[in-house]
Amino acid sequence: ENRLSDPDMMPGDALDRALRPQSFDDYVGQSRAKANLKVYVDGARNRGEALDHVLLFGPPGLGKTTLAQILAKELGTGFRSTSGPVIAKAGDLAAILTNLEPNDVLFIDEIHRLPPAVEEILYPAMEDYALDIMIGEGPAARSVRLDLAPFTLVGATTRAGLLATPLRDRFGIPMRLEFYEPEDLARIVRAAAVKLDVSITEDGALEIARRARGTPRIALRLLRRVRDFADAEGSAINQGAADRALKRLEIDPDGLDALDRRYLHALVKTYAGGPVGVETLAAALSEARDAIEDVIEPYLMQNGFIARTPRGRTAAPAAYDRLGVPRPVSKQS
Ligand code: ADP
Repeated sequence: ENRLSDPDMMPGDALDRALRPQSFDDYVGQSRAKANLKVYVDGARNRGEALDHVLLFGPPGLGKTTLAQILAKELGTGFRSTSGPVIAKAGDLAAILTNLEPNDVLFIDEIHRLPPAVEEILYPAMEDYALDIMIGEGPAARSVRLDLAPFTLVGATTRAGLLATPLRDRFGIPMRLEFYEPEDLARIVRAAAVKLDVSITEDGALEIARRARGTPRIALRLLRRVRDFADAEGSAINQGAADRALKRLEIDPDGLDALDRRYLHALVKTYAGGPVGVETLAAALSEARDAIEDVIEPYLMQNGFIARTPRGRTAAPAAYDRLGVPRPVSKQS
């Protein structure tokens, strides 16, 4: 299924990069995280030390990679980037670590997907800036310690809970990124429109922002699609043009798309409002469990449509209202 508002989909990725903010000042929203990080960055820079390790978590497309790059820029250090699934062997990570310059930022996206053997060499690296290397085999084997340059690991993951506790505990600065307010997304859309040389009105930007599931990557993608429709109409992107385009893209006024609606439909109608296990829902929707947990559910939860309980997912009254289905009178639990 070609899901336009799936923030994991990466067409136009090069464009995404071109639109990336370069400093704290250009990075819209996330004011709580930003304010704290500014203080930590100033402290580290003034002392000439590496910033503490930072764990960024939150749904895809909220700006984790962007923030990691900005951290390096604001620290005035180098930036290296890799991702959990790409690092297959401990040696791969060792090669990256030994090539870092003092105080560099190493960004590891999807850090929860590091193989366990790789994760293990990360522990002394994070704690003591050291690598423990095994030399020889069998009874003669011994471990040699190799010093590394001090560095900052910035790890990104969709949910902090996906990380093993010993890894999570080694991040001095854990930061949760939040969904964006429509006003903030509208600012991001307007800034991108300027860079793309697209004419857009304030209410046009706000209409796109309201329907972007609180996610900058989705807002930017919708902007590009809406521009195509507006160009075809020969009009600027005003509220009416945005609304018409988004309707054609089957994105509802509250930002829910076809898959969100299918999810609510399955939960409310097929499974009578739950509780139902996430595996069951994933099978019913023919979607990967990860996509459901990382992309679909956080936004539906944030908006009060569903709840995650130990026994499974349940539909909130708002979900019934949304589908025009009468709320259950009382529900046995
Ligand atoms: P993540 O790493 O969390 O998946 P990214 O950092 O790749 O998300 O961000 C996705 C896109 O959204 C990027 O193209 C970036 O330009 C834009 N973006 C994200 N956060 C912001 C922000 N706070 N201000 C402006 N643009 C942002």
